[in-house]
Amino acid sequence: MSIVNTVARLFNRKAKKADDCKPEILQRKEHGISRRQLSENALKVLYRLNTAGYQAYLVGGCVRDSMLGAHPKDFDVATNATPEQVNQLFRNSRLIGRRFKLVHVLFGREVIEVATFRTSPKDEHNSQQAKTGDSGMILRDNVYGTIDDDAMRRDFTINAMYYAVDDFTVRSYANGYQDAKDKLIRLMGDPETRYREDPVRMIRAIRFAAKLDFSIEEKTEAPIKVMAPLMGQIPAPRLFEEVLKLFLSGNALVTYRLLREYKLFKELFPLTEQCVADDEFAARFVEQTMINTDTRIQSGKSVTPYYFFAALLWPSLQRVQKEFLEQGMPPQPALHKAASRVIEQQLVRTSIPKRFTIPMKEIWDMQARFEKKKGKKASEVAESNRFRAAYDFILLREQCGENLRGLGNWWTKYQDTEEYKHIAANRKPEERHTKKRRPRRTNRGTPNDRQRSRRSEP
Ligand code: ATP
Ligand code: MG
Repeated sequence: MSIVNTVARLFNRKAKKADDCKPEILQRKEHGISRRQLSENALKVLYRLNTAGYQAYLVGGCVRDSMLGAHPKDFDVATNATPEQVNQLFRNSRLIGRRFKLVHVLFGREVIEVATFRTSPKDEHNSQQAKTGDSGMILRDNVYGTIDDDAMRRDFTINAMYYAVDDFTVRSYANGYQDAKDKLIRLMGDPETRYREDPVRMIRAIRFAAKLDFSIEEKTEAPIKVMAPLMGQIPAPRLFEEVLKLFLSGNALVTYRLLREYKLFKELFPLTEQCVADDEFAARFVEQTMINTDTRIQSGKSVTPYYFFAALLWPSLQRVQKEFLEQGMPPQPALHKAASRVIEQQLVRTSIPKRFTIPMKEIWDMQARFEKKKGKKASEVAESNRFRAAYDFILLREQCGENLRGLGNWWTKYQDTEEYKHIAANRKPEERHTKKRRPRRTNRGTPNDRQRSRRSEP
């Protein structure tokens, strides 16, 4: 790009700045999104809302990804209809959320999330202000506004684009369209204020940089390292959901490296950070976990949160177990005590549902059983539902240079025996922990894309 162009663009950006709260309107020819890229169900929702006299737009990731030629994970709609009005309009919908109400419109397994335009917390003109705490964090954010207000409270400019189906235009705020073309992650508004309002935006910046291969604009990037400790204010269940989005969407390795660079990883996994910072094996182990996770996702295989968490906490587990062994405790009790301690400390940062901590402990527990039971009692180990995960874990350890004296190889060969084939054929299907199958949020995502949820925003 020529210097003249760059200067012109910078100048243009400055000139536009004052008008960030008014959209640039892009015609079909400019933005390039065709209706074929969009979910038919999402379009139905837009048409129905428009016909009933409401404004309605696709917004956020689905517009951004369609513009970039990628498959959106899910489709979000923003409207000036209230949740109750939306709910009345669609028989196949349900109101969700107590503090911040949203509507889910259900089409089989696809869920279209419809949100009413929200306004920014500092809107002087609105009597029902959104509430911020002492630190500036948004505590309650349930105030309705116009599309312009709604755009101002989106996180990044590339996420503040709205697609209308009545005239096929895209409304782009604060230069979002140009930023998407320039591959730039830029926060809406003043970065420090926006991070203070919701520190999760820091990890979202990293997530989008990794996922889209974008750069983080200077002012958006600058405060992150200093403000990273604000992540401590975020409730552990929300961080658990964020961790799944960060690492189980196919870009784990890049995301992990960026998170470490920006001092955010230690806010999510403090014990793991301590290990990788001063132990080469731990560093290799965690990197390899990220690589293997990405490879599995790219080849369409499933990845389970419990395997991922078991791997991430393994170096810390070994460290703590060693301390107990040195105090004279036998290996099994030392392992169990270390497992409880490590999980307990991790739960301070990210919650981990019981349905995952139980199999995590089983994988760890089986590591020693794999060694003992090789030979005559192999079948006892092979019968376990956790056999496959624990075996993969053995291979991961060996892959990272642990000398297990050919253990992985022994169990690989064992799986060719008639004994194993018989066991595998008769293994009971894994018990389901979820009682009822719920519709999925997306029609295209992997089962591991946990529901992204604006409900969990502050
Ligand atoms: P993905 O492809 O990962 O789903 P996305 O941009 O759709 O990316 P979501 O988490 O699904 O991300 O959120 C949808 C939209 O809601 C975002 O594009 C953004 O406009 C808005 N949003 C989500 N989280 C925040 C937040 N913490 N602060 C402000 N706006 C947010
Ligand atoms: Mg989304």
